[in-house]
Amino acid sequence: MTSFRTLDDVGDVRGKRALVRVDLNVPMQDGAVSDDTRLRATLPTVTELADKGAIVLLLAHFGRPKGEPRPDMSLALVTRPYEHVLGRPVRFIGEWDEAAVATLAPGDVAILENARFDPGEEANDPAFAGRLAVLGDLYVDDAFSAAHRAHASTEGIAHLLPAYAGRAMEAELKALEAALGNPERPVAAVVGGAKVSTKLAVLRHLVAKVDHLIIGGGMANTFLAARGVDVGKSLAEHDLAATAEAILDAAERANCTVHLPYDVVVAKEFAPNPPSLRTCNVHEVAADEMILDIGPAAVEALADVLKTCRTLVWNGPLGAFETPPFDAATVALARTAAALTQEGGLVSVAGGGDTVAALNQAGVAADFTFVSTAGGAFLEWMEGKPLPGVEALKIDRSER
Ligand code: ADP
Ligand code: MG
Repeated sequence: MTSFRTLDDVGDVRGKRALVRVDLNVPMQDGAVSDDTRLRATLPTVTELADKGAIVLLLAHFGRPKGEPRPDMSLALVTRPYEHVLGRPVRFIGEWDEAAVATLAPGDVAILENARFDPGEEANDPAFAGRLAVLGDLYVDDAFSAAHRAHASTEGIAHLLPAYAGRAMEAELKALEAALGNPERPVAAVVGGAKVSTKLAVLRHLVAKVDHLIIGGGMANTFLAARGVDVGKSLAEHDLAATAEAILDAAERANCTVHLPYDVVVAKEFAPNPPSLRTCNVHEVAADEMILDIGPAAVEALADVLKTCRTLVWNGPLGAFETPPFDAATVALARTAAALTQEGGLVSVAGGGDTVAALNQAGVAADFTFVSTAGGAFLEWMEGKPLPGVEALKIDRSER
């Protein structure tokens, strides 16, 4: 049995230097932060440690400077915006240097320069991890979104200092454990998105884990085509027919019921509300039509499946949701999942860049049990891969 030390275990941190790995890799437009979600995600941990009198040193990366200092990727650019979100002063420290850190007082918060300015960061060079580690007395990892990378600031350093999961990391790990680690059954997974090829490992892992696998989006077309359905001009990976069949066979052996749509929304051109729009049975798609969403009858059947489930994990939209009305199935099923969650019968966890956008579009992100904004790390977790940044935080019960 493994577990994690959290901020509940840090003890008295007054005057101690806490190196906190956070995700400050925010999108910028004309020098301003265009989405501060990641900055806000750090607040519980940073505020708690500063209030307890720790000297809080934030470690992060920003962009892809490839091991060299680049003024346009300096975390100095994020310091003022971060100060604004945090609501207290934040220092910027441009070098990983003990003397510079020594000028800070208990309760102070500082951002250290972009760790990727040093080639040792991405190489997970023990020398660079050591150089970071001497700046702190303890290490807190609050950047789940960077945990799929074994870098010095996410992995190497965790072996050199007492290491703890921050509050955002803790919430993410708890939600993921509840969804796929040790979930209440039956478990349903929704997997959608454009292509099977980008999510093969996810599908292979899920068929062995879940009771219901709901496939939508462009990837449903690949499965339908593999089953001999004529999908017309639809986005589909016909060369993956054998792979799709193998996944369906594995599902059958594992007692996982795979749900493919039996009605679909099609059009001759991919445009908002096209004149050729219609809904039909999957066997009635014409040669010049493409499937752009799953149909209303399929959505109703899937809602009935979700009603029998205790746990749901969702990655990928069911249709081309950016273009109306091909968001209808995603929005409808997301609203069902949200309502079931609010009624208390369902634990619902979702993640993925476009998935989060689709749930926001449906206005239900806050009604899911947990929505991960971690992107790559979330997908690797859905593939069942151990995440180096998470593994490095694990402790055996016997060690506690
Ligand atoms: P996520 O970012 O949540 O992991 P993906 O990137 O895998 O999701 O997939 C999202 C994309 O899939 C969206 O751009 C959406 O338009 C596209 N998509 C979904 N269904 C279809 C379809 N039937 N035809 C074409 N594109 C689709
Ligand atoms: Mg995407």
